[in-house]
Amino acid sequence: MNFAKLQYLTGLSALALTMASCETVPMSNKAVDNHQVTASDNKHQSQQWSYIGESGADYWGGLRAEYSQCDAGDQQSPINIANTIAADISSPIINWSPFIPTISNNGHTIEVKSPAGNTVILGGKSFELVQFHFHHTSEHTIDDQQYPMEAHFVHKADDGKLAVLAVLFAEGQANHQLTEIWGAAPAVIGEITANFILDPKQLLPIDRQHYRYQGSLTTPPCSQIVSWVVFKQKPTISAQQIAAFATVFDENARPVQKTNRRYITRSK
Ligand SMILES: [Zn+2]
Repeated sequence: MNFAKLQYLTGLSALALTMASCETVPMSNKAVDNHQVTASDNKHQSQQWSYIGESGADYWGGLRAEYSQCDAGDQQSPINIANTIAADISSPIINWSPFIPTISNNGHTIEVKSPAGNTVILGGKSFELVQFHFHHTSEHTIDDQQYPMEAHFVHKADDGKLAVLAVLFAEGQANHQLTEIWGAAPAVIGEITANFILDPKQLLPIDRQHYRYQGSLTTPPCSQIVSWVVFKQKPTISAQQIAAFATVFDENARPVQKTNRRYITRSK
């Protein structure tokens, strides 16, 4: 659904949808109705870990034994990308096809599940796209600059290792695929199967130059099993798209972690 159209549909229609079923009210409808679900509701629904207060990022490592890497790990993500080393690294080979997405609000982010068969080849190794999701503001910074949003395309290999393609978005023109996702995403914890075909490649930058480093999940259990690919070019999303996400998740970014002795390479 078109975002401008959504703004037109304020008031009664959004309220009627809300009363019919909270689980199926799209995030964008919530975004235009200040009296509906807010970011704080999502925090209450997800007690295990969060981004603020006593279960916030500074405390993840102590919340559960299996989260200990969040504190003890020396290859944590995200990081500030700086002091990079030029290297002859090939671009990831991205074999994604359009699909009808399943979109969930898991209390921490909006997540789009991928069907089997969407792969990326990184350094000769094949990883399969499992899901992608969003952070506001960006988790990685580049030369200490933060961006309004970051998407993570999470791929898994047969050996359990992950390759995550990260796209940082700058504010500018709206992204059509995001309009579709935001329009369908539940505003509270829940999952829907969308009624449109999503082309995930439309969320990627055209230029595939990128940075690469070894790191971790940016959420508990912070497992250090991730080959990160962070694209240099930033596609744009509109101020309205940022605001719509922020209405449901006002801040779901882990702060940058110590780089320690890691190399960050950049493609030439
Ligand atoms: Zn993420």
